[in-house]
Amino acid sequence: MIAMPAAAWINFARPTYNWRLFTVPQPELLGRAIYMAAGKVLGGSSAINTMNYMRGHPMDFDGWGHAGATGWSYSAALPYFKRCESYRSAEYSEFRGYDGPVGTTKARAWGPLQEAFLAAGAETEAGLTDDTNGYRQEGFFTFDQTIADGVRQSTARAYLRPALARPNLRIAVRTQAHGVAIENRRATGVVLAHAGQARTVRARREVIICAGAIRSPQLLMLSGIGPAEHLRGHGITVVLDAPGVGTDLQDHVEIQLTWRCPRPVSHSRYLRPDRAALAGARWLLKGDGIGATTGFEVGAMLRSARNVPVPDTEVYLYPALLDGDRPHLTMHGFGIGMNLNRCKSRGTVRLAMADPTGAPLIDPRYLSEPDDRTFLIDAIEWAREFVDRRPFDGLRGAEIGPGTRDPAEVDRWLRRELIGNWHPAGTCRMGTDARAVTGPDGRVHGIESLRVIDASIMPQVTNANLNAPIMMMAERIADMVCGRALLAPEPVAIYRP
Ligand SMILES: Cc1cc2nc3c(=O)[nH]c(=O)nc-3n(C[C@H](O)[C@H](O)[C@H](O)COP(=O)(O)OP(=O)(O)OC[C@H]3O[C@@H](n4cnc5c(N)ncnc54)[C@H](O)[C@@H]3O)c2cc1C
Repeated sequence: MIAMPAAAWINFARPTYNWRLFTVPQPELLGRAIYMAAGKVLGGSSAINTMNYMRGHPMDFDGWGHAGATGWSYSAALPYFKRCESYRSAEYSEFRGYDGPVGTTKARAWGPLQEAFLAAGAETEAGLTDDTNGYRQEGFFTFDQTIADGVRQSTARAYLRPALARPNLRIAVRTQAHGVAIENRRATGVVLAHAGQARTVRARREVIICAGAIRSPQLLMLSGIGPAEHLRGHGITVVLDAPGVGTDLQDHVEIQLTWRCPRPVSHSRYLRPDRAALAGARWLLKGDGIGATTGFEVGAMLRSARNVPVPDTEVYLYPALLDGDRPHLTMHGFGIGMNLNRCKSRGTVRLAMADPTGAPLIDPRYLSEPDDRTFLIDAIEWAREFVDRRPFDGLRGAEIGPGTRDPAEVDRWLRRELIGNWHPAGTCRMGTDARAVTGPDGRVHGIESLRVIDASIMPQVTNANLNAPIMMMAERIADMVCGRALLAPEPVAIYRP
């Protein structure tokens, strides 16, 4: 269920591999608590995600450097993106890696809906881009996916599996970290709990936390590193007053418009039990066919206005209607997912309790900045005009959602249907200002021998999906941890509109 790309949907909700987190009720979203999937398995969310391989925009990394994460820039990041990746493509590009541990493959447009999406995209001002992870992020494209030979390339498969035989590696599964042991402001170990038994593992050199943007700040706070008043409120002894821990939570948000499709060409056609069984058997035997894709084959990165310097909008084609969080079995249709990648709203992660087994309070404060709502209302209009284009003729049935033109009803629909995109970041961000938690090498300010390396240290969430940039960050900081010379920056020209 992890390895097979088409099964990705199943793990979105299934508790087996998933923390199944929820935000606190969001006032701007009619008081809804928004579901937040997060991988609870080796490989973390890379083992349950949708496998879109998106690096972000080059200016994201230049922006990190300008925001105080000294040394970070696109040219510094590029050799590490390349080091991660084994791109299965015949065409060589100076932007791509070809012998790294993580196999990536370009998706295939599977049918009329995907073809219509790309044909309609070609008619727009943005047009098509050959490589959204290369010279030109902006435009319509078929996704690169972290899939090789039909199999998901989680970080567990790509990095851990080949290292399993190393004598200096031990993996403790079904084990939860409860906190970092700290003596005289120096991390000396980790408190672990397995089957109700706690023990402390001592660290000779350093402790590295990689628990993701929700759990890493939780672990720091449980260890006494965080906003002092908040920690005292939970009876936790303050080791370091660090107001930035759990602050500046950022996420992407998505609203999906839906249409019926008069032709039976959506991915729902593959879900008839006999066809699904055949697809499963084919995937098991040959590693290809519809079992080897995710349903997210085509998308776009767009600028919401001409004066916006980088694409701030990510568009997905959903080639099926959803029934809850799974494709609909019988009703044919499609969706256009409009993602705001540059939310102005910022939120927090705070402790709900001092008990490490409980989930923290996650408050992204979605739409708390009015500009985010305005952006999404405009995005809804854009999607409608897009689907009105000629290539969708014959595929476009009645609009289901929002299904109304009344501005007040559209607004209410937006608040009822908006979801987070499961891309939390920024809660232990790198920088030098008073709220920065980590330095550009992931070291926690004010505590010796302690680093954080995951989405939480991004100074600003990247402008696309997060898995690829997190692997890049981990590769680069791993060189710092090992005391190796960093790879030489690779300055390249990039597309500027
Ligand atoms: C359903 C879903 C779909 C997504 N789709 C995409 C996509 O298509 N493309 C993309 O690029 N990104 C996608 N993302 C986002 C991306 O996968 C994540 O942003 C990324 O994997 C996060 O990496 P991380 O290292 O920061 O944290 P995580 O991957 O969350 O890893 C944290 C790990 O720490 C473990 N952990 C946490 N707390 C503790 C503790 N106390 N003790 C022990 N272990 C602990 C967790 O179980 C997990 O294994 C998706 C995310 C989800 C959830």
